[in-house]
Amino acid sequence: MAKKSIADLNPDGKTVLVRVDFNVPQDKDGVITDDRRIRMAVPTIRSIIDRGGKAILMSHLGRPKGQVSPALSLAPAAQRLGELLEQPVVLANDTGGQDSTAKAKVLSAGEVLVLENVRFNPGEKKGDDADYVAGLANLADIYVNDAFGTCHRTEASMYAVPKKMKERGKSAVVGFLVEKEIQYLSDAVGQPKRPFVAILGGKKVSDKIAVITNLLRICDHILIGGAMAYTFSLAQGGSTGDSLVEQDKLELAKQLLQDGGDKLVLPVDTHCADDFSSDANKEVVKAGEIRDGFEGLDIGPDTAQRYAEIIRGAGTVIWNGPMGVFEMPPFDAGTKTVAGAVAAATENGAITIIGGGDSAAAIDQLGYADKVSHVSTGGGASLEMLEGKAFETVNMLDEK
Ligand code: AMP
Repeated sequence: MAKKSIADLNPDGKTVLVRVDFNVPQDKDGVITDDRRIRMAVPTIRSIIDRGGKAILMSHLGRPKGQVSPALSLAPAAQRLGELLEQPVVLANDTGGQDSTAKAKVLSAGEVLVLENVRFNPGEKKGDDADYVAGLANLADIYVNDAFGTCHRTEASMYAVPKKMKERGKSAVVGFLVEKEIQYLSDAVGQPKRPFVAILGGKKVSDKIAVITNLLRICDHILIGGAMAYTFSLAQGGSTGDSLVEQDKLELAKQLLQDGGDKLVLPVDTHCADDFSSDANKEVVKAGEIRDGFEGLDIGPDTAQRYAEIIRGAGTVIWNGPMGVFEMPPFDAGTKTVAGAVAAATENGAITIIGGGDSAAAIDQLGYADKVSHVSTGGGASLEMLEGKAFETVNMLDEK
């Protein structure tokens, strides 16, 4: 990628506005349950403050819909960041308004200011609110995009703000996280070590149509799991009982089956239950033979073994979406076997990439996060890259 990064600039004495993605999961008491996105932003922040710069960070959290919502404050994220940096982090209670502006003015070299949730302001989603955009653009000399998880969204802090800063002759560059994420995904898709295996699971075929279509052109095998396997099964004339299926996607599933040929690998068996619960009555049946009153909740053991074998022999693996309801044992078994095979492939020298979102949560929960090449911080963003789309938010940044 020929985009300029923060490493190419000297932040000494400058104020740097960094769009990070601190959209982290929290429990009902506001305690952060997974701080990976915050940890992954630290190298960029460190690079600014260790070289005499002042860092102002902005992020969204959840969907406050343009209104101040105390439960979605960035205060816990700012506190966690302070712990990681081992220094105090100041929080402004607005986004480019009076408080941010005043606090930015008195910031010293090496200090960090976090702005409140950008989505508390309706201008963020709207994208073209001139006052809101100017309020943020006025805060700093340099703009950095280090919010990989938000790169597929052209909200104001991702697009209009750096555009405005560039119009004023200021630099707008990528941070280390965005650079690394894009590098991993574009190399994997652009020059894959073969065999190139994609594992796609999760709830809906409709979410993954564009990915399947694009990956069919470049992958050697696409292994299908999760509930979306049942829409394919139904399209082949199978019985899917009470499983989650998308009736309106049957024609499309037929088309993908026809286009995919041998590349599209479907489950041969299914672990199903007569209720969506751990202690329901369970049975393993052949794919397409799910009885009425039962729903498929995981790939079956034969499928898991088959998939594991293909994965272990791969040169590149990309995984997006769990194989079953991994949050509810024993329906985590298929996802577990696949995760183990991805770890084994990594050990054998394969490049293995886990798309963000639920797949990242699954690999973390199963203890394999350190045993793969890369766990992405962006679910939607990594999917869009696998669909072959380019990010406007990155394209508009300065070239090297
Ligand atoms: P997605 O957001 O599309 O990646 O879907 C992830 C969700 O799909 C997880 O919460 C899984 O529990 C769920 N899931 C996976 N397999 C199934 C299944 N067979 N039936 C119902 N939900 C499933």
